[in-house]
Amino acid sequence: MDIQTLTAAVRNIPDFPIKGIQFKDITTLFQSAEYLRGLSDILYDRYKDKGITKVAGIESRGFFMGPATAIRLYAGFVPIRKFGKLPYKTIEEKYSKEYGEDIIQIHKDALNENDIVLLHDDLLATGGTMAAAYRLVKKLGVKKIYINFLIELEKLNGRALFNDDVEIDSILKFE
Ligand code: IMP
Repeated sequence: MDIQTLTAAVRNIPDFPIKGIQFKDITTLFQSAEYLRGLSDILYDRYKDKGITKVAGIESRGFFMGPATAIRLYAGFVPIRKFGKLPYKTIEEKYSKEYGEDIIQIHKDALNENDIVLLHDDLLATGGTMAAAYRLVKKLGVKKIYINFLIELEKLNGRALFNDDVEIDSILKFE
């Protein structure tokens, strides 16, 4: 499956959820069996030789391809959720959004020092969400972390929040 076809399948929604935002709607990509398989094949190819033991997905759009990729890699899946959603003992990280702060949490026993983690979300914008998720996963002392997005909004330069030593990959790139 070529990247251009998949890129063209992402629907752009102007002024959602607020005026001035060009929202990238991935549901149009997912609803096609052919595109969904194509995307899954790309993810599998990129990570099949990395020794990934767990995929950690960020609520909520990281819960689509996160588990799908974990199944193909024969890895486990770990949810990173918004404050108050996880039932067991958690650790957390705060991050600032355009209006105020948000908190994400992970179960404290979800990952350990033997894990090689693929941290996944649908989209990289300013990078604030993923930077907080990265700090969260690091706290659990894992062996290595890879970061993956389906979409990167390159103009916002979210990559600048990460050191060179973390491997960040995005499949579809937009301005
Ligand atoms: P960041 O923290 O600014 O990088 O924003 C990334 C987070 O916002 C991710 O969890 C995305 O799911 C969500 N997000 C921001 N813009 C979009 C969009 O255009 N489409 C889908 N999700 C978006």
